Amino acid sequence: MSLIVQKFGGSSVADAASIRRVAQRIAATRRAGHDVVVVVSAMGDTTDELLDLANQVVEGHPAPRELDMLLTSGERISMALLAMAIKGLGLEARSYTGSQAGMITDERHGKARILEVAPRRIQEAIADGAIAIVAGFQGFNRETGDITTLGRGGSDTTAVALAAAMDAEVCEIYTDVDGIFTADPRVVPKAHKVDRITTEEMVELAAAGAKVLYIRAVEFARRHGVRIHVRSSFSDLEGTIVTNRTVPAEGETVEEPVVAGVATDLSESKITIVGVPDVPGKAAQIFTIVADTLANIDMIVQNVSTTRSGETDISFTLAKSDVPAVLAALEAARAEVGFAELLHDDDIAKVSVVGAGMRSSAGVSAKLFTALYEAGVNMEMISTSEIRISVVTRASAAATAARAIHAAFGLDGEADAVVYAGTGR
Ligand code: ADP
Ligand code: ASP
Ligand code: MG
Repeated sequence: MSLIVQKFGGSSVADAASIRRVAQRIAATRRAGHDVVVVVSAMGDTTDELLDLANQVVEGHPAPRELDMLLTSGERISMALLAMAIKGLGLEARSYTGSQAGMITDERHGKARILEVAPRRIQEAIADGAIAIVAGFQGFNRETGDITTLGRGGSDTTAVALAAAMDAEVCEIYTDVDGIFTADPRVVPKAHKVDRITTEEMVELAAAGAKVLYIRAVEFARRHGVRIHVRSSFSDLEGTIVTNRTVPAEGETVEEPVVAGVATDLSESKITIVGVPDVPGKAAQIFTIVADTLANIDMIVQNVSTTRSGETDISFTLAKSDVPAVLAALEAARAEVGFAELLHDDDIAKVSVVGAGMRSSAGVSAKLFTALYEAGVNMEMISTSEIRISVVTRASAAATAARAIHAAFGLDGEADAVVYAGTGR
């Protein structure tokens, strides 16, 4: 019998009626003769609401260990309700927390990495003919004995890791859109669904802010050869297959557009360190201080300062949530590093185009910059990788920029895309 892992995101289990609908869908898969392991996210915007609550009881950062305790409770609610709903349909179902399911992680609260998956209890449940429901986004660290979370959107990683550990036939990611589109359909209404995408392109799209799949999940799938099928829990349509395979199967059309998709990301901020002494070792010193806070840096730009000689300005982008810790660490090292001023800007967006075809195609940057110029959008930073170009713009210009780029690369579909649910939060 084949094993299928099915992951349901928050918008698919937002209320009691949705949970019953999802339970029907799981039951149908089981009745069709498959073994089923389900991974579930917290209901609707529960995780955001819990975060808001934490920020109301404390000024500054809530204690990371306690924050993980709080946030993991969201997935416990949905897993238990889903198991009850499935049992109500006459099938056996058992729910498990991340630690019960053997998701062993490192100790980093809020951004733990999976070290090992030991799904003994899940295998037992399956052997008993039950459907196993696993709480997404959470794990357990053996050294500290504490509960961890994998980072926002981390339920996708739980699903892919379980699919790899249990050698599932496919890892189905159910969400509130019909699959992976050429852009976020909430931002670019003319975005269209793609039938297939490579893990390579999907990693870049996820890094560029396409939250339809969490980047760590795609990286995991790439390393372990897990086949992902992203689809809607609100329709029966086929979604998008994400695989390592780039060679088309026989009979399949060889159509490789230069650009696979456009992504927007409003989750980053920009920090600028003004007046850094222009001598060797300063960047190393600064980015060591930043790295010690565990923050991940995205783009970096260094300029010759226009106002001072012998000094430079360094700007970089990073997750908004990492800004307070990084600012505090840099401020504490101001005298030691010898910079003049520390600025930060929350009002930015990153807009990117991604496509494996860029490797062999000239003029992609020129086309992108022309589209932005014609749309009246100013670029503040630019960075490129082999198959991606990203620009930083004002946050308010993100949608205009994404739509202009989408049209310029010929990605616009005929009709407007369908978004079934969710608040997009
Ligand atoms: P879930 O709650 O199921 O985990 P998410 O909100 O994390 O759902 O991800 C689904 C959302 O991702 C969609 O509603 C859509 O707004 C957004 N999204 C961003 N980029 C894309 C894209 N390229 N294709 C499809 N959806 C995208
Ligand atoms: N509930 C978590 C979040 O909102 C994990 C997830 O949904 O994947 O980030
Ligand atoms: Mg998600």
